[in-house]
Amino acid sequence: MENKAYRGHVLALPFPIQGHINPLLQFSKHLVSKGLKATLATTRFIHNTMQPQSSSSLQFDTISDGYDEGGFAQAESIHASLNRMETIGSKTLADLIIKNKNTANPIDCIIYDPFLPWALEVAKKFGIFGAAFFTQTCTVNFIYHHVHHGLLKLPITSTPISIPGLPVLELDDMPSFISVPGSYPAYFEMVLNQFSSTDKADAVLVNTFYELEPEVVDSMSKVCQVLPIGPTIPSFYLDKRLENDNDYGLNLLLSDSFVCNNWLNTKPEGSVIYLSFGSMASLSNKQMEELAFALKGSKFHFLWVVMASEEAKLPKKFVEEIGNKGLVVQWCSQLEVLSNKAIGCFLTHCGWNSTLEALSLGVPMVGVPQWTDQTTTAKYVQDVWKVGVRAKVCENGIVEREEIEFCIKEVMESERGKDFQKNAKKWRELAIKAVSEGGNSDKNIDEFVSKFVNS
Ligand code: UDP
Repeated sequence: MENKAYRGHVLALPFPIQGHINPLLQFSKHLVSKGLKATLATTRFIHNTMQPQSSSSLQFDTISDGYDEGGFAQAESIHASLNRMETIGSKTLADLIIKNKNTANPIDCIIYDPFLPWALEVAKKFGIFGAAFFTQTCTVNFIYHHVHHGLLKLPITSTPISIPGLPVLELDDMPSFISVPGSYPAYFEMVLNQFSSTDKADAVLVNTFYELEPEVVDSMSKVCQVLPIGPTIPSFYLDKRLENDNDYGLNLLLSDSFVCNNWLNTKPEGSVIYLSFGSMASLSNKQMEELAFALKGSKFHFLWVVMASEEAKLPKKFVEEIGNKGLVVQWCSQLEVLSNKAIGCFLTHCGWNSTLEALSLGVPMVGVPQWTDQTTTAKYVQDVWKVGVRAKVCENGIVEREEIEFCIKEVMESERGKDFQKNAKKWRELAIKAVSEGGNSDKNIDEFVSKFVNS
């Protein structure tokens, strides 16, 4: 018999990529700890390939994005895949709601990724509470909000750019869809469309914490009440309140933790540079070469995640030639790596999850942003949170080896580097406080839950 004692049943619907699944999955576990039943709906393709196991802390179910066999990466175009996801996703989401209707725990709330704004329409059709869950910084959301509502006109013709609650921004601090007009129009439309219906959403959640972006949270709250509820990092790495919660739990790629840990455990404290460009990495051959030469020339150890799709871009014999100085893996447990004492610096693309994980674990960064929101986050890493440097890009779009070496040294061994470490520790403490009982994010989660449960 199903347990009827839950305070309510939430259905979480992430956009089906790693960087969007992780935070919503983790948030769902938090809601379970608050007495709710939580179901994470992945696509059939992800479900069939990963076979996630439902447990007392989280249930899994499916919708279809229309690409059950090969995943939406197989789609003919970004635009086509988003359209198909909307049509088939809406229908199968409705089926899932109906399937739960006459059970002991019908769905009370849908928490949807605003990359999928149609999910709110489905929720409303069934009279269900709908909450948008933003997976990028509040800063980036507010920039897109301004563009969507015509408050910031494109193309930008004069700089610096002023938006209430944000520091003054130059063009290359803006998300790439704005600074490089015409790049990825389908994705640009998608990030702006996040705001197509937020005024109808019953709650707007953001994976950040108040102390990180107080001014922008305050500014944005004047136009739409935002609830920062992060960082959504497994509890083991922050407040340790949830038992056995040391991994997100749905890793689309396999990591070799044993190899990484064994290797890192032989290295002195703070001596290793960790490099990763996230789950969608697609660097140019030239950029890979510059990184490889910089690492080979630097005196530090390094652990570099080079996904299988990127491996052919490494210089020939690179792996043989580096010997024990470096380790190249196709994927790792990033939280485990970042929390290892051997790590001194994270060279990152500044994806929001990676950045938030580094802030939460107190690791200084070298930002080498590639596209989308990463440029804006890199600006904050250097100038607002002061936990690292942003590498300078040459006119050809490449960060050259000398610049990479310089940035690594700045973080690993300069006087500024000591400040970065101090600030990184401060952000870690604030992150722990935010999610601990009575912290700002914890209170916001309680406020959110109180909006749709009776007790
Ligand atoms: N990640 C991981 N192992 C790796 C590289 C990344 O587990 O080797 C995880 C990382 O912890 C983060 C997510 O993948 O939670 C990447 O999200 P992010 O927003 O940083 O970048 P994206 O993949 O969306 O570009």
